[in-house]
Amino acid sequence: MKTTLVVFCCFASLFIKAQLPQQPQNIFIITTDGFRWQEVFNGADGNIVGNPKYVADTALLKAIYWDDDTAMRRNKLMPFFWNVIAKKGQLYGNRNYGNKMNVSNIYKFSYPGYNEIFTGYADLKFVPNKPVPNRNTNILEYLNAQDAYKGKVVAFASWNILPFILNEDRSKFEVNGGYEAIKDADSNAVFRLINQIEEGVAEKAATRYDELTYLSAREYIKQKHPKVAFIGLGETDEFAHSNRYDQYLYAANKVDKMIAELWYMVQSDPFYKDNTTFIITTDHGRGSKANTWNQHNTFVKGSGEIWMALLGPGIVPIGEMKQQQKNFQKQIAATVAMLLGQTFATDHTVAEAINLPVQAKTEKENAIVVNTRK
Ligand SMILES: [Zn+2]
Repeated sequence: MKTTLVVFCCFASLFIKAQLPQQPQNIFIITTDGFRWQEVFNGADGNIVGNPKYVADTALLKAIYWDDDTAMRRNKLMPFFWNVIAKKGQLYGNRNYGNKMNVSNIYKFSYPGYNEIFTGYADLKFVPNKPVPNRNTNILEYLNAQDAYKGKVVAFASWNILPFILNEDRSKFEVNGGYEAIKDADSNAVFRLINQIEEGVAEKAATRYDELTYLSAREYIKQKHPKVAFIGLGETDEFAHSNRYDQYLYAANKVDKMIAELWYMVQSDPFYKDNTTFIITTDHGRGSKANTWNQHNTFVKGSGEIWMALLGPGIVPIGEMKQQQKNFQKQIAATVAMLLGQTFATDHTVAEAINLPVQAKTEKENAIVVNTRK
């Protein structure tokens, strides 16, 4: 009973302080492929971090990312998530509290996952991770067709299949994926350098180094000020599939740093400051066990369990969502549209937006995080 009262008071005070959510002018969607909610909310996994099968130097990895305390441990892995987003944004998907964020598609691998994120539609049609142009309309192409966003939508992705999932040819907005050179690079020294480095990568895998994707996106954003940007990172999934838990953690830690740097850049740029919202998520989960964490598909338990982080205008600073709740990957597309004051409607069904909490009207309502903006 005492505990319940304390929780009530904390939530109430949080909400009283909260500002009315404003509408963002710009949205950045950032994904890190196949990164588990377990590491987002618990940090390094105690059942894996000491296993020499997956970790080259277990003592050193523990020295870098381990702490017996969960809050300290996750803070070591994702400092921006836990020092900034957990205070100024919202974090969905901590199943320790019954807060669930789920994949709806039955396949639970990348093509269907990105399709679900961007089209709002969990397509039953099987499409493999191959260069197949997506038949479904995505939120980025929808926005790019609106006057307010025409020519102001861009996507940079490490994985060379994402241009097909976003159907670059039909969509008409700029999509840079895999080791594709940046277009019209002549007038920009950074673009020229990135293109040179990419040309020099001898063995070009399907997934470009995340650092190159990130630097390309960052320079584009700095120079061209797109209103809607997607940055798709891929190393977390690559290292998990190659059974390297140490590199998987290191990649996640780098993703956290990239997001921190991007947020700092946005908040220091008058064009973006206080009018830009970040949506950060993943395309699928992975196995929940110490011997299945490296895999994901429809038969591996845990593959449909994901997470989402939100930061910026329109997002009430609640931090970690601790109430029992179930949200879905397919709701992200409509949520992006809703935040921008748009409605995403197309010729396939689009799942409704997530009921983001807004500032409640009375203190009584403040204790129950259910008020919606619909
Ligand atoms: Zn994936």
